[in-house]
Amino acid sequence: MPAVPGWNEVADAVYQRRYDPLDVSVCVVRGAGGLLLVDTRSSHREADEIRADLRAFGDVAVRWVVNTHAHYDHCFGNARFGRGSAVGAPIYGHRGIPAHLDAYERPRLQDWIARGVEPVADWREVVITPPDVLVDASATIDVGDREVRLLHLGRGHTDNDLVVHVPDAGAWLVGDLVEESGPPMYGSGSFPLEWPATVAALARRLGPDTTVVPGHGAPVGRAFVVRQQGDLQRVAEVIVDLHAAGVPADAAPAQGRGRWPFPEDGMVTAVTDAYRQLDG
Ligand SMILES: [Zn+2]
Repeated sequence: MPAVPGWNEVADAVYQRRYDPLDVSVCVVRGAGGLLLVDTRSSHREADEIRADLRAFGDVAVRWVVNTHAHYDHCFGNARFGRGSAVGAPIYGHRGIPAHLDAYERPRLQDWIARGVEPVADWREVVITPPDVLVDASATIDVGDREVRLLHLGRGHTDNDLVVHVPDAGAWLVGDLVEESGPPMYGSGSFPLEWPATVAALARRLGPDTTVVPGHGAPVGRAFVVRQQGDLQRVAEVIVDLHAAGVPADAAPAQGRGRWPFPEDGMVTAVTDAYRQLDG
């Protein structure tokens, strides 16, 4: 296959493109039956930019879309790819996505519009569009000459993370369960105490030559995932210690200083979510 301009072929006929703002990964798996697109960015305008960039693949249609999870920067472009659009593709996502959209992303969008957060014209345009093919533990998509597997490995970054496995390419598109260009992002429905086990379940499935594409950042390998799993584990252990010692949530990030593997300001939401779960 010739190179596809603007798209980085990270594994055999598996492509990544990194978009600003937020350095979001958008990925494409090319099959004989068409293109499978992973994630749709933050708005209709940003989704239309993806559609324009997909012309680099020539006269090949997007036939399937997958959302790695419900956070706005991965799925607010869905309306421009889904059944009601000119693309008209089915959108696959975890069964927990609709509830997450209602709990976090709709209020977020309404708040941004009410406060005039820029680019407010783009936010006003967003029609939140949940996936129409809901996945529980796993699903397989036949894209023609190859299979793509969708797996939910447990709760972590959210309760609705799906990883996309392309077995014949040794590629895993893992959304924000793993992040490379910044620390893992806690908050907006994260499960800090369960996240380490979920990434451990991912790491167990990886081979030495596997390509892992994070939701934000450059492709990594198994060693990176194992290292980040250890850091996620450390965060969970420190939070459990602080909670057991009776340290209040608002004091915990500073009390844990020197023990966090990630910047302390990012631990505020980790502590908030984990304490809520520890307190039942
Ligand atoms: Zn996310």
